[in-house]
Amino acid sequence: MKNNIELAKKLICEKTLSKDEFVSLIDGRCEETEELLKSEAVRLRKEIYGNSVYIRGLIEISNICKNDCLYCGIRKSNKNCERYRLAPDEIYECCDEGYELGMRTFVLQGGEDGFYSDKIICETVKNIKNKYPDCAVTLSLGERSKESYKKLYDAGADRYLLRHETANKEHYEKLHPKEMSYENRIKCLYDLKDIGFQTGCGFMVGSPFQTTENIAEDLLFIKEFSPDMCGIGPFIPHCDTVFGDNPPGSVNLCLFLLSVIRILKPNVLLPATTALGTLHPQGREMGILSGANVVMPNLSPKSVRKKYALYDNKLCDGAESAQSIEILKKRMSDIGYEVVTDVGHIKK
Ligand code: SAM
Repeated sequence: MKNNIELAKKLICEKTLSKDEFVSLIDGRCEETEELLKSEAVRLRKEIYGNSVYIRGLIEISNICKNDCLYCGIRKSNKNCERYRLAPDEIYECCDEGYELGMRTFVLQGGEDGFYSDKIICETVKNIKNKYPDCAVTLSLGERSKESYKKLYDAGADRYLLRHETANKEHYEKLHPKEMSYENRIKCLYDLKDIGFQTGCGFMVGSPFQTTENIAEDLLFIKEFSPDMCGIGPFIPHCDTVFGDNPPGSVNLCLFLLSVIRILKPNVLLPATTALGTLHPQGREMGILSGANVVMPNLSPKSVRKKYALYDNKLCDGAESAQSIEILKKRMSDIGYEVVTDVGHIKK
């Protein structure tokens, strides 16, 4: 395993590797390399963000989606999905509740629902920013035109999350219907960045057909794109999708990749995702201890949470829910971290 330790040291020194080296690092990882990269990731994160953990209130505004991503529980063709959409007033109520709980970022995420025209989202964003000028608004509403993104930015939205899903075109095409294109996904990301959004990309670990080469390509894409945020979480099957019988992604590999991504881009905002918490009871703590610095408690109205089922058994109550913030604070303090009331922008 000496070779593998050498690669880990090289990554620490040079903050990147070649594609072949990433493949060897991942496939040959052992406890020693995991520990080495984890401690470097934590060191870098502490240097920039101390022991602060940023929280984001996640508001799942609609599970209506025009897309048919093969892995996703809210895909258009899932007839068993009970659809809902929040009205702007309901979104404001979520923000009020989140603000009281100490949240200073609201993430509006949803399927690609035609109801949310530029006009409606712009109004919603403006109203949130007027009421809470000390808060950031993050949008995660899928692919739109550059003109549309610009309007949302001009309305005051600060950040946009759009996972690239995979940096390999052939792999992308195995996960998506032919109406969707890899080129457009990547174009959207560059448009968002160009407009001035704090932009987030990301991918699922262990998605169907994913190879180690694909993961190496994702890492190289992240290095090149240099996102402000990066969302990675394990793939988890949803019973009503094409991949319902596929195995879930590996928690261990996901943690390893969190450490690698922290090293590639030391100041990146890196969430310990709900999917990680869903697959392992200590998933979020382990994510933070591997280099993550963000958690996104669920702030959606309780009545809709179960309906935003991207995958089976998604966590939405317990320490996952915004209302249980005290439990989350305790769990973070037990591992030496502090949940802070802070807008939580990237530190440049
Ligand atoms: N529609 C927006 C978009 O396309 O970015 C945001 C909503 S989409 C449901 C949010 C993310 O959920 C996707 O980027 C995808 O990576 C993740 N996701 C979907 N299905 C999943 C699954 N079965 N397991 C894990 N993550 C999943």
